[in-house]
Amino acid sequence: MRRKIAAGNWKMNGTGAALSELDALAQALPPNPPSVVICPPAPLLYRACEVVAGKGIDIGAQDCHMQSSGAHTGDISAAMIADTGAIYTIVGHSERRAAHEETNAMVRDKAKAAWAAGLTPILCIGEALEDREADNTLNIIGGQLAGSLPSDVSAENTVIAYEPIWAIGTGKVPTLAQIIEVHDFIRERLIARFGQDIGNAIPLLYGGSVKPDNAATIFKAENVDGALVGGASLKAGDFAPIIAALAAC
Ligand code: PEP
Repeated sequence: MRRKIAAGNWKMNGTGAALSELDALAQALPPNPPSVVICPPAPLLYRACEVVAGKGIDIGAQDCHMQSSGAHTGDISAAMIADTGAIYTIVGHSERRAAHEETNAMVRDKAKAAWAAGLTPILCIGEALEDREADNTLNIIGGQLAGSLPSDVSAENTVIAYEPIWAIGTGKVPTLAQIIEVHDFIRERLIARFGQDIGNAIPLLYGGSVKPDNAATIFKAENVDGALVGGASLKAGDFAPIIAALAAC
């Protein structure tokens, strides 16, 4: 049985007032919930950890620097994130790969920095629309996996999120068959590289326009172990039904 995870990425949304959503979410969790992670903007990390303490919700950051300290104005190290009480960090989100020119090698180093600080990276990969249209999705995904996943991965220290770029924030969702094809491919690649035990146990999340009305369908896929959710994680009333759908499958 793989760990099920519902992770919310608040992106650059929310100030202190948004923390009330965490209380509301905690109250709306179903019985036997999956792991629930919220990744708020960095200035809210410490307060978010205080709000969710003991309530069945974990906190993660949206990025970390690959160095442990130094002259990197505006950046945040993994140790600083861990110091807030957060236990996860997203690395390699497509918005950072695009806007901050993050390469696979940088994402790999960020994952290692996260481990060094005791954080679990949620490592994102995904193809652009032109890759999908050129029937090049699996090549891109294979390359990102090989390039951004460090070699000492374990099922406990890493979560992978498949997020087709064209599905993020667009309301467009791949067909279930397309999601199954990519998740099965990732699983095969993980098993080939890390062996059955580790490869079979690493949680694989789907991300890209997951909403309360499509979550149950997406969670039917055998190799989908949860979701990384952007817009629908901002409000407890939207995220709670997604969590419930995951708990029910
Ligand atoms: C994301 O930003 O990781 C994401 C999946 O966003 P959305 O759910 O809004 O498409």
